Amino acid sequence: MNLFVANWKMNMLREAARAYAEDLGAKIGSRALSVELVIAPPATALDAARDSKERWTIAAQNVAAQIEGAFTGEVSARMVADAGCRYAIVGHSERRRLFHETTAALAEKLARCREAGLVPIYCLGETEREREEGLSLQILTSQVQTLARDPEQEPLVVAYEPVWAIGTGKAATAEDCSAACAHLRSLLGSRPKLRLLYGGSVTPENSAHMLEKGGVDGFLIGGASLKAASFASIAGLD
Ligand code: PEP
Repeated sequence: MNLFVANWKMNMLREAARAYAEDLGAKIGSRALSVELVIAPPATALDAARDSKERWTIAAQNVAAQIEGAFTGEVSARMVADAGCRYAIVGHSERRRLFHETTAALAEKLARCREAGLVPIYCLGETEREREEGLSLQILTSQVQTLARDPEQEPLVVAYEPVWAIGTGKAATAEDCSAACAHLRSLLGSRPKLRLLYGGSVTPENSAHMLEKGGVDGFLIGGASLKAASFASIAGLD
């Protein structure tokens, strides 16, 4: 089943989150969904974004690398699982770049997710410079190494998010995406429950072509997920 994940980033107060959930709920109505929907709100709006009818689940945008203790300001994997999350985003490029998250820390976060029963949405992708230098596939290979200790039989979501495509309005072509995803599938082929997403300037206008030709099982969506109507449209629910 294709998976569509709305990454709200640091947007939405609780009232807006509740209004969004109402809008999305109205768009879906009582139809049986043939896609899986996930919303990753900020931690303060996890409850407000939840659907009492369980037509979508919620995800954390980040978890702490540590289990618990004196880590002021951090939120643990167990805490977000306790708050109702089924998934957690790990290794988003904004976390890697702006918060200097290291490979070692990301491996710890993946382990914390598994201990808490969360399915990680592990993000990877090359920068513009790496792409220009022809290093894209090499970078993906090295970023996949972070999953080395992650149990192979567990469900896993990997989001291919080229850094140059995130929030820029410059989505990858379906051909580029397909090549990257073929490479990732060859690296992760031993995983029976792998789903591959694409993320980076996905919109209602480019999503159908990307889904058809990009070799993906869905999308991780930032900007275009901030309106319920456009998230629903990308998920094919208009
Ligand atoms: C993201 O932040 O994961 C993302 C893909 O953002 P956008 O859709 O805005 O490019």
